[in-house]
Amino acid sequence: MTAFADLTSPQVADLLTGPRTPVLLLPVGAVEPHGPHAPLGTDELISAGMCARAVDRLADDPDVRVLVLPTLNYGVTRFGAAFSGAVSVSESTLHSLVTDVCGSLGSQGFTRIVVVNNHFEPAHVATLRKATEEAGIAYLDLVRRRTAERLTDEFRSGACHAGRYETSLVLADRPELVDTATMTTLAPIDVNMAAAMADGKADFVAMGMDQAYCGSPADATVAEGQSTFDTLTDLLVELIREVAR
Ligand SMILES: [Zn+2]
Repeated sequence: MTAFADLTSPQVADLLTGPRTPVLLLPVGAVEPHGPHAPLGTDELISAGMCARAVDRLADDPDVRVLVLPTLNYGVTRFGAAFSGAVSVSESTLHSLVTDVCGSLGSQGFTRIVVVNNHFEPAHVATLRKATEEAGIAYLDLVRRRTAERLTDEFRSGACHAGRYETSLVLADRPELVDTATMTTLAPIDVNMAAAMADGKADFVAMGMDQAYCGSPADATVAEGQSTFDTLTDLLVELIREVAR
């Protein structure tokens, strides 16, 4: 069993006395528009996909036992407010959720926790950085330069919303959730989101993303998604090992 909430209470207690160090993963997502072709839950799907792969990779590890906590599936998401389906919570709500959940686990002895997030709106990322630091737990920060440089060209270009990068990841795990007929008709939209934000643009429409995507979703492939998942899993497993030490 690899889902924390699938265990019984005695099984959870046994984790702390077993030979393998327990490390808990907290996947984080958001409910927000991802173009006219990809699901609202794209970010959660990517976080959960990485966690599942990391668990598989470490399944027989003699030193570490990895379990996945129930996903935190709401985030701070205001950029997509003009589109149907965007559901945002405030910074203080997200902050409390992370510190409360991790505090509760920490008081039981589970102090090795990694937050795995794939929603990159700056207010959301800043809240997670602050909350994880305060809770004394690890955060896999995919937009930090040294991490991002191992990801794809499109991701690093800043055109990282519902384009080739994210759509490929969804195609790799849940192809039935991508409207591929629409996807193949979408023209590339070259927007550097970081630069647009620095320029004071505060939502997708103002950034020139009038269909809530940028980059090139039409170029998304299952193969790229699988390869990116491999890299994301490498990054996560490296951090899990660091946390377990
Ligand atoms: Zn996304």
